[in-house]
Amino acid sequence: MDSEQSEKDTSEETMTRREFLKKAALAGVGLAAGAAGLSRLLPSAQAASGAGVHEALYYKRLSGNRVQCTLCPWQCITSDGQRGACRVRENRGGKYYTLVYGEAAALHIDPIEKKPLFHFYPGTRALSVGTAGCNLRCKDCQNWEISQRTPEQLRAEHRLVSMSPQTLVSKAKSNGVATIAYTYNEPIAFYEYMYDTAKLARQQGIKSVMISSGSINREPMLALAPYLDAVKIDLKGFSDDFYREYTAGQLEPVKTTIKRLVALGKWLEIVYLVVPTVNDNPKTIEAMAKWLVKVGGPYIPLHFSRFFPAYRLKNLPPTPIDTLRRCRHIGRQAGLKYVYVGNVSGSDLASTHCPSCAQIVIKRDGYQILARNIKSNGACRFCGTQIHGMW
Ligand code: SF4
Repeated sequence: MDSEQSEKDTSEETMTRREFLKKAALAGVGLAAGAAGLSRLLPSAQAASGAGVHEALYYKRLSGNRVQCTLCPWQCITSDGQRGACRVRENRGGKYYTLVYGEAAALHIDPIEKKPLFHFYPGTRALSVGTAGCNLRCKDCQNWEISQRTPEQLRAEHRLVSMSPQTLVSKAKSNGVATIAYTYNEPIAFYEYMYDTAKLARQQGIKSVMISSGSINREPMLALAPYLDAVKIDLKGFSDDFYREYTAGQLEPVKTTIKRLVALGKWLEIVYLVVPTVNDNPKTIEAMAKWLVKVGGPYIPLHFSRFFPAYRLKNLPPTPIDTLRRCRHIGRQAGLKYVYVGNVSGSDLASTHCPSCAQIVIKRDGYQILARNIKSNGACRFCGTQIHGMW
C-alpha cells in the first residue's frame, strides 16, 4: 500500500489529447453509431439548448484561452471550441465545461450483483445511471452505443433526458432502492454529475457506488471518495502493451487508483474480463492476482468475467468455461479468498464460500441469490467467521 502523501500525478500518468487521439487511432478505434437499448425508466426525451452544460471541477487555465483538464491521466489541453478526448468536455472561451451534467442516457434498476458487487448488500437493487462519453477506447466495449458517442449524437436520437441529481435521488427513494450506481459508460466522464448526486444521496440516506475503469487523477478521486460507499474497478488487462493496444489507455493509473482506494479503506471489488488469446495468459493472470494480494490483501473479491464477442472484437469466440475455471484456480492459488466467475449461468462459480470452513454462505446462479447462509451482520452461519464486505 503506498502513501497518499508520496503520490503525485507523474508524467508517466499523463498524456496530451493529441497523444491520446494518436493512441486511439493506433488502436483502431473511433466513433461509431448504432442502436442503444436504453431505459424503461426514462421519461420521454427532452432536448434543450445548453442542456447538460456545467463548469468542470478540475481544469487549469492556460495562455491564449487554452485549458488543461486535470480530471484524468490524459490531461487534455484544448483551445477555445475544442473538446477533450472523452468527447463530453469542451473549452468555451477559456473555461472548461462538462456537457452531460444531469443528462441520462441509460437508467435502470438492476440487482447489485449485476454491477457486479457480491459483497455489498447482496440481494439489494441499485438505480443505475449512465450518460455519454468515455476516457478509454476499449475494443470490447459492451456499452459503446453511449460510451463512444457524443452528447449531440445521443440527443439527436432523443436518448438523452434531463435528470437532475435531486431527481435521481428522489427516483431511488420512490422506487425503494437503497443505492445509486454510476455505470454503463465511464462515470469519470460525468464526474461532476456523479459527485453532486453522490453528495446529495449521502445527505438523504441513499448509497452510491462507482463502476469504473479507474483512470482518474488523485485529487478528484480523493474528493469523491467520501461520498462513495463502494467501488468496482475494471482491471482490463495486466500489461502496458495490452492497455495501449486494446483500450488506448494506461495500466499504471488504474493500479494507482486501486492502491489509493485500498488505502482509503473503500469497499472495492475487481473485475477482469477474460478475452480469449488477448489477456488470458496464465502467467499474466497469476501476476495480476499476486499483485492484488500484495496491494490489497487476500479479501478483495476478484471477478473473472466471461467475454462475449462485441464491438470491435466480434472476431473472437466467447471465453471457454475451462479458461475461466483455470483463472479462478490461479486466483485462489495466489491467495485470494473470494474469486468468482461471471457471465456464466448454471454453475456454482458465482457463490461465496466462507474462507474458514469453505461452506457456501451465499449460493448464486448468475445474479440470482438462491440461498443465504450468512447472518445479517455478515457472519458465516456454519462457523461464525465474519465474511468481508458490507451487509
Ligand atoms: S476527463 Fe476527458 S477531457 Fe479530461 S483529461 Fe480525461 S479525456 Fe481529457
